[in-house]
Amino acid sequence: MGEFELIERFFKRPARQADVGIGDDCAIWSPQLGHQLAISTDMLVEGRHFLSTVDPFRLGHKSLAVNLSDLAACGATPRVFLLSLALPRSDETWLNGFSQGLFQLADAHGCELVGGDTTQGPLTISITIMGEVPTSQAVLRSGARIGDDVYVSGHLGDARLALEAFRGNISLPQATFDAARLRMEMPSPRVALGQSLRGVASAMADISDGLLGDLGHILKASRLGADIDLRATSDLMATSAYWKCPPELASICIFSGGDDYELVFSAPASAQALVAKVAAQTATRVTRIGQITATPGIVLRDENGQPVQNLHRSFDHFA
Ligand code: ADP
Ligand code: MG
Repeated sequence: MGEFELIERFFKRPARQADVGIGDDCAIWSPQLGHQLAISTDMLVEGRHFLSTVDPFRLGHKSLAVNLSDLAACGATPRVFLLSLALPRSDETWLNGFSQGLFQLADAHGCELVGGDTTQGPLTISITIMGEVPTSQAVLRSGARIGDDVYVSGHLGDARLALEAFRGNISLPQATFDAARLRMEMPSPRVALGQSLRGVASAMADISDGLLGDLGHILKASRLGADIDLRATSDLMATSAYWKCPPELASICIFSGGDDYELVFSAPASAQALVAKVAAQTATRVTRIGQITATPGIVLRDENGQPVQNLHRSFDHFA
């Protein structure tokens, strides 16, 4: 199967959102009047971002999920995306699974594949996604204010737990491993929550490199600090409902795990009821974990309000 047959068979579908989609030299697409483009790109490299044994369906899902998560973090609505693929060989079984996982998530969010590039090479997947957001309403990292509450969506740390099990550093009961692995391989981007938080959240980021690192980005951009209440973070792992993680590992997973694709955001204390309403409307768990402070840096506080030494580091490809 050649390059063009591969594109036709696995990636070309009738254009819906776009005026012109796959097959021309450019895709042509018009955002709605009164909106700005929100654009993001993410690359996944075999051995670095995923294991070579991962199910291609799940990989297709995750490749788009990490990009949708970036748009969610700005409160944008996803519209179209481009897919650049380097493939070692044209393997039909792999392409079938990959494209099905990709399109299942794309269709769930009404986001259309409008083009890309295909080449032979070490397995690498790069997606560029475009969405739209009403002019000047994108939620940025720089908007946090002193006294704002700090929240996270969903669950944190399970993806890292799965990674520790894959690395052989811990052995998990089968059900716990399966659940953690599903979180690692098929994250749920919080697109509806992100959009509903426009005008509510003062600052927002998605958690791809660990809570403390990504919250740290908000704090740096806002030139502020945060107090985190350890009582509120203790049960953030989904697997903690039925499996007790050793506390030291749980703390690594929750604070510097990464690969969570949840949202961390700040909102004024006056918006507490609104945040709860938005969480209910989008059927997304939201947990208040602390507060924005004037002192730069993140302070973790125990049940007595005493600061606990913070040894966590977020993920950095070149550190
Ligand atoms: P060009 O060389 O003119 O950039 P290509 O020959 O690489 O175009 O691709 C032909 C068409 O197929 C283009 O419309 C391109 O956007 C699309 N395309 C190529 N690879 C992919 C892919 N992996 N997914 C979706 N569309 C693709
Ligand atoms: Mg090309």
